[in-house]
Amino acid sequence: MSESEQLEISQTQTALTSLGSSLDAAGDKGYLQAVLDHAVDAIIAINPEGIIRSFNRAAEQIFGYHAADVIGQNVRLLMPEPHHSAHDGYLQHFPATNEAKIIGLGGRELPARRADGTVFPIELGVSEVKLPGDHFFVGFIRDIHERKRAEQSLIDNATRLSAVMNTVVDGLITIDEKGTINSFNPAAERIFGYSETEAVGQNVKFLMPEPYHGLHDTYLQNYKETGVKSIIGIGREVAAKRKDGSVFPMDLSVGEMLLHDRRMYVGILRDITARKQVETERLNLIAGLKQSNQELDDFAYIASHDLKEPLRGLFNNAQFLKEDYEELVDETGKKRFDRIFFLCKRMEKLIDDLLYFSRLGRQELAYRETDLNAVVHDILQQLESASGQPGVAVSVKASFPVLICDATRVGEVFRNLVTNAIKYNDKPVKSVEIGCLAEQGGQKNVLYVRDNGIGIQPQFYQDIFTIFKRLSAEDDKVRGSGVGLTFARKIVERHGGRIWLESEPGVGTTFFFTLQEGSAK
Ligand code: ADP
Repeated sequence: MSESEQLEISQTQTALTSLGSSLDAAGDKGYLQAVLDHAVDAIIAINPEGIIRSFNRAAEQIFGYHAADVIGQNVRLLMPEPHHSAHDGYLQHFPATNEAKIIGLGGRELPARRADGTVFPIELGVSEVKLPGDHFFVGFIRDIHERKRAEQSLIDNATRLSAVMNTVVDGLITIDEKGTINSFNPAAERIFGYSETEAVGQNVKFLMPEPYHGLHDTYLQNYKETGVKSIIGIGREVAAKRKDGSVFPMDLSVGEMLLHDRRMYVGILRDITARKQVETERLNLIAGLKQSNQELDDFAYIASHDLKEPLRGLFNNAQFLKEDYEELVDETGKKRFDRIFFLCKRMEKLIDDLLYFSRLGRQELAYRETDLNAVVHDILQQLESASGQPGVAVSVKASFPVLICDATRVGEVFRNLVTNAIKYNDKPVKSVEIGCLAEQGGQKNVLYVRDNGIGIQPQFYQDIFTIFKRLSAEDDKVRGSGVGLTFARKIVERHGGRIWLESEPGVGTTFFFTLQEGSAK
């Protein structure tokens, strides 16, 4: 109980007791009863044997008894054990020893019992009244269970808060307006290497390396003056300094709170050294991969370029050999010459494909605003005039968007996919559908080429994009070179897009691709 409450209760006690005695003496019982009935505290008078003599209205409300039911009963009925059994003893004891545990004192916290048996905390002050020919005790009782509950809930909150502070993996530091550290949780101790006692009371800038160390006071001052937030409520990556002087990267978010008109800041911080290390390693790896990719592209270009010259020599010499000595060789020999020419041509095609592939990796894309409707239209015209195949039904299912991309390369993707859709198709009517889905699986403008062809087994979904990888074994004359899809993927990826497929063997395949827009050049 606070001092002011104690004072208040003992003042009420004294005032009422003396009022009681004087009014009693004057015989104005009605007036006294009115005062008692309007008192906020329960007021109970008992005789020296503990028998209740009066029980005011507040007492009725607090204990749940009617005055008429308790007057004449022993007051211990309002007490739980052990006081219930011990109370008679207290009363007998008191006159002998005159030892006041409650009587005449400001008030004491005790448990009490209501009519329904529930036990609740009260604050009790007792005065002894001695009048000529009369002797009794007056108890002043205040039900404090609400206050106790509020106190308990404050304690619970504080316990919960300190449990959070102590167990949270993030460092938590609170500082005041001047930057002085008020609290420093165990995670902050682990992160910085300072103990709480070393840190509390210090200015938080001692955890910062230069230039922040020197600037921090200005930051706080600026915020106080201008209200412009540079970190509060935002959070960002900052540099921090451990006790051993080492500087490390840290994620910091700062919140602001007002405590009894005092502005405080709570910093939540996380050491991100490990994450930064992984990030740096990842960036280095990507840079290394880019570099070796570039070197591979350069190598493929140079190697294929250099290979062409001896190949041409081989072909020319075989040609001379045939012209000069054809008469001398038999049919088998002539077939061998033809085979050499065929293989040279095939080799040349492979080298050209390789050269082209490396060029795709090396050359800048010619980004410009491109109407894909025109691109698809052109490709279909080229294919029709090139083959004019019967039994092929091509349908264009959509109106295509205008995108910023390399029109020639994107045309190549469509051409490769449509050619394959017709080539790998055993149906009497080879149907090819070209379209664009405005949105699919969270991706915008998903372009597709669908066929009713032979389909692809799922285990080959990755292989088919590998250079020179082929699944079908056609004879040499119709044989593809296994580069179409490799080129398509390279082009799509260089546009920042993705290519994938869905297929059912015997039913058909759909190739999907996206193009992330580049900037117009
Ligand atoms: P190529 O057509 O020159 O062989 P690609 O890289 O275009 O090379 O295709 C690789 C392989 O993927 C082809 O050999 C074929 O087996 C398979 N393939 C490609 N497109 C289809 C399709 N639409 N339907 C079935 N199989 C296909």
